[in-house]
Amino acid sequence: MENIHGHCVCGAVEIVIKEYGNFVYTCHCDTCRRMNSGPVMSVDPGPGENVIFVRGEEKITIYHDEEVERGFCSVCGSTLFWHNPADDHYCLNAELFYDIIQNASFKLELFYDTKPPYYAFSGERKKLNRNFQEM
Ligand SMILES: [Zn+2]
Ligand SMILES: [Zn+2]
Repeated sequence: MENIHGHCVCGAVEIVIKEYGNFVYTCHCDTCRRMNSGPVMSVDPGPGENVIFVRGEEKITIYHDEEVERGFCSVCGSTLFWHNPADDHYCLNAELFYDIIQNASFKLELFYDTKPPYYAFSGERKKLNRNFQEM
């Protein structure tokens, strides 16, 4: 598998993923929007072993959001990931890899029922509500 390199704004944290399936997805939940000033675009790297912290792991601050972890760079504040330790599943900030994901397709919107009415993405794609049911 290829190595896909990404980094935060300041470059302190470098992350390599092995795959992302050539698609991005987003989450409209209250927490993602509050943390990121809007819906965060994410990539799914597959199993946790596909995520390699190349540099700056000690610069990552973890916010424990109930049973999941939200990681951000303690230097520049960039959102890095959402991680569920129970199954070692990561959702990584897609824009860490923006020079590589230019041709990705936008496949999925999560927590669509919590999206505020003042914005919407154009185009058609799968939308799931907060209970992960298709809308
Ligand atoms: Zn940084
Ligand atoms: Zn969210």
